[in-house]
Amino acid sequence: MKETGTTRQWMQRMTRRKFFATAGAAAAAVTTGAPLAEADNHLERLDESDPTAKALSYVHDARTVDAAKRFSDRFCNNCALFAGDADDEWAGCSIFPGKAVANEGWCSVWAQKQDS
Ligand code: SF4
Repeated sequence: MKETGTTRQWMQRMTRRKFFATAGAAAAAVTTGAPLAEADNHLERLDESDPTAKALSYVHDARTVDAAKRFSDRFCNNCALFAGDADDEWAGCSIFPGKAVANEGWCSVWAQKQDS
């Protein structure tokens, strides 16, 4: 996706503190080459109103996110931090310990999977 003026404006609004907090967590998981959370179908589902979820713009349905904020091909199921298989409906995520995130969810920490 080509960066648009709106995307640039959104990125500028992201606070430095938030950026480093989320980037640090994502980098830790990505450098290990594996999600830090375990896949577990018994985890409690993350509530979109959870303060951390809200701060990171997490939603169960990524398609509801403003196109200026999210690349259209990014979902939890193809994020490096998603602890489940690509077809698991819900799975753990190291950004939200003890909670399960939706397969087609998304948050602003989304991280590219490393080739293995
Ligand atoms: Fe976790 Fe989904 Fe955010 Fe990736 S996009 S960090 S799997 S909530």
